[in-house]
Amino acid sequence: MYLHGTSTINAQGHLEVGGCDVVDLKAQFGTPLYIVDEALVRQRCREYMEAFRASGLKFQVAYASKAFCVMAMCRLAEEEGLSLDVVSEGELYTALQAGFPAERIHFHGNNKTPDEIEMALKAEIGCFVVDNFTELQLLNAIAKEQNRHVNVLLRVTPGVEAHTHEYISTGQTDSKFGFDIGNGTAFEAVQQAHEAEQLHLLGVHSHIGSQIFETEGFQMAVERVAQFAREVKQQLGVVFQVVNLGGGFGIRYVEGDTPLQVSEYVKAITDGVKQHFAGIAEQLPEIWVEPGRSVVGDAGTTLYTIGSVKEIPGVRKYVAVDGGMTDNPRPALYESRYDSVLANRANEETSEVVSIAGKCCESGDMLIWDVSLPRVAFGDLLAVTCTGAYNYAMASNYNRIARPAVVFVKDGQADVVVRRETREDVVNNDVIPARMQKQTVQA
Ligand SMILES: *Cc1c(COP(=O)(O)O)cnc(C)c1O
Repeated sequence: MYLHGTSTINAQGHLEVGGCDVVDLKAQFGTPLYIVDEALVRQRCREYMEAFRASGLKFQVAYASKAFCVMAMCRLAEEEGLSLDVVSEGELYTALQAGFPAERIHFHGNNKTPDEIEMALKAEIGCFVVDNFTELQLLNAIAKEQNRHVNVLLRVTPGVEAHTHEYISTGQTDSKFGFDIGNGTAFEAVQQAHEAEQLHLLGVHSHIGSQIFETEGFQMAVERVAQFAREVKQQLGVVFQVVNLGGGFGIRYVEGDTPLQVSEYVKAITDGVKQHFAGIAEQLPEIWVEPGRSVVGDAGTTLYTIGSVKEIPGVRKYVAVDGGMTDNPRPALYESRYDSVLANRANEETSEVVSIAGKCCESGDMLIWDVSLPRVAFGDLLAVTCTGAYNYAMASNYNRIARPAVVFVKDGQADVVVRRETREDVVNNDVIPARMQKQTVQA
């Protein structure tokens, strides 16, 4: 058992997060419940901001909102001075509804629709991260119709592969994302963007993967992008004012995960920029990064109530909780691993190895294989830790299970930031065609 941030065990042996006893949180809000340690999220934001300030470079830290995109989180990011990445109409709308300053919003994605582009242009967002030639032309055309000029970065693939699960690495040449530096595509994109009337080319963007535990990948990416910047300057006279090095900074989910401190990742990047960009232009470029997981991941805890227990003698004991792949699909999608705490008896010695199952009709709906817990019983509370990123964001209504509430906890206060879905919400968009309506019997 490893506790993040403000999490502790109180005198009753209950898990406490943000000064709130989770037994009380269950009584007040029910389970499953996403609990976010607000102080820890703010601490992570500040670690990024302070590390960049210490570098002396110009910078922006953009929270990759896809990790956990709700209005309260957009407000928090704004309060902490971060910028914001969005990848869809829905994320953009969430940010705008939360009053997030449009000029600090960056729009990502490999297939932005014409509607999304129009919406983002009208909102006057800060920058588009252009992914491909189709988008480059479409964006220029729509900007022309709207008589606007727009800032763009070009997403490039530097050919650096992060050491991570293959489904979530995107820096290599064979990727659906971005313009490849190695085969000349990125150079051509710079030429086109530079010539496009409505586009103002700020620079380039590279994102090499996710859940990265070392600095080498970032250092290689910086070096590769700097080399590219030098070529572009020499051959086209174009100077990159902004270099965005993406996100992907790792966090500790389970024992054996060995992330670096935020400051170490940032220092590796800013030192690399100072070294490799020296002499390319008069000024060093402004550096942007886009952490998602590392801002919110370890601040999240999902609280469940334990229901049925199935013991197969000599084989395995399955302990089922009142959620599962609907609130956390990552174990099923990526074989992601999580840790947990028996939250209402957190001081008890562990005495058995069990596996935590969800309640969906899928054998693959497992949250944790083989975790040591005290002997559990019906009605106990299980807290799965480190669920702040890509959990609520990826939640679904599979099996028509309503999505849990999300609460921010801080200094003993718990505030709902997303209400629990009701069964009425679940059928809210269903329509029975008129020809299928039940006939009302005439009197
Ligand atoms: C997903 C993503 C991020 C954030 O990644 P994390 O691993 O959550 O830090 C940043 N930038 C881009 C382009 C992404 O696709």
